[in-house]
Amino acid sequence: MGKLIYLDNAATTKTAPEVVEAMLPYFTEHFGNPSSVYSVGSSNKEVITKQRETIAKALGAKTDEIYFTAGGSESDNWALKATAEAYESKGKHIITTKIEHHAILHTGEYLEKRGYEVTYLDVDENGIVSPEAVEAAIRPDTILISVMFANNEIGTIEPIKEIGEIAHKHGILFHTDAVQAFGQVPINVDEMNIDMLSSSGHKLNGPKGIGFLYIRKGVKIRSFVHGGAQERKRRAGTENVPGIVGFGKAVELAVASMDDRIRKETELRDYAIARIEKEIPYCRLNGDRTRRLPNNINFSFRFVEGESLLIMLDMKGICASSGSACTSGSLDPSHVLLAIGLPHEIAHGSLRMTLSAETTKEEIDYTIDNLKEIVAHLRSMSPLYEDFMKKQK
Ligand SMILES: *Cc1c(COP(=O)(O)O)cnc(C)c1O
Repeated sequence: MGKLIYLDNAATTKTAPEVVEAMLPYFTEHFGNPSSVYSVGSSNKEVITKQRETIAKALGAKTDEIYFTAGGSESDNWALKATAEAYESKGKHIITTKIEHHAILHTGEYLEKRGYEVTYLDVDENGIVSPEAVEAAIRPDTILISVMFANNEIGTIEPIKEIGEIAHKHGILFHTDAVQAFGQVPINVDEMNIDMLSSSGHKLNGPKGIGFLYIRKGVKIRSFVHGGAQERKRRAGTENVPGIVGFGKAVELAVASMDDRIRKETELRDYAIARIEKEIPYCRLNGDRTRRLPNNINFSFRFVEGESLLIMLDMKGICASSGSACTSGSLDPSHVLLAIGLPHEIAHGSLRMTLSAETTKEEIDYTIDNLKEIVAHLRSMSPLYEDFMKKQK
């Protein structure tokens, strides 16, 4: 094929050409500081407001409930740390789940070291958080519930509306990390009872290093960065104007193409899942089959090492991701795959492929043809597989 087949859109996406084009003038002629009095600066204030409007509209939120940040990790940190501080007189208990992104999990650990108590809820074998379990974990001193909208590894979409309803019934704030979901699936913060929501530009064909935290009016939350009066005094620092413009454009494009993209990606996803299940033995689909992001495919292949799989796919020009964190210097399998109950050795043989709107059936066919050969090849070198096959006879 010669061309790169990029199936790692949950890690990051290609910045859309329209986004790059929209950003460029804000590096050159419109370079001014939005806080300045003269017009090359102050006109950028209106530009930022316009992007805020675009984003707020996509969520059913109000314009002044959107606060720009430097990405999903910052938004998650802000939501947890600053509400924890603001509500500590009410209590110091937070509820989250075992399958959150590290931006939530490690912030939870940070807070635990500072006297907060964090409950990490289990999920079922498909990665779904049960609203009943959320309710059962609520205590008089619970101040915040944070459950991700959709999981970045296995694509499972959580019952956000129901969990939000429970949070509100008990007068508790509800935050969701929607970094994987915003722009991919419809979200409405009012209908879904969401008080805070994290998002990041580079997961939806926008630029890296820009994100936002939606904060419902009336939520008490401490400022995250102290300094100037930017972001209504809650997050100081000269605005990332090109980033904000690019993010706004990306959201505009995502909203306009959402229905089409969901239809196309879902069809391709289900085609790929069906082919893999039919043609590669001893595999397991990870994540819920239907309550699932339209672009997520995640499989475990028994008797195969995920890292070897990735390297061999890379040699065929295919970019995917594995279920272990070896690349980040640890040999532990993914906490998400362990949380859905996979044994270590099966979690290690996992592969995540995440599609984009541009992914074609030809690319998927090429990928699965190669995957089939690579899995068979790796198994042919596995003594465990050999033993297993002998016992089958
Ligand atoms: C990527 C991701 C983040 C982190 O976002 P950054 O903008 O890269 O900091 C947080 N949560 C989830 C679910 C993600 O997929």
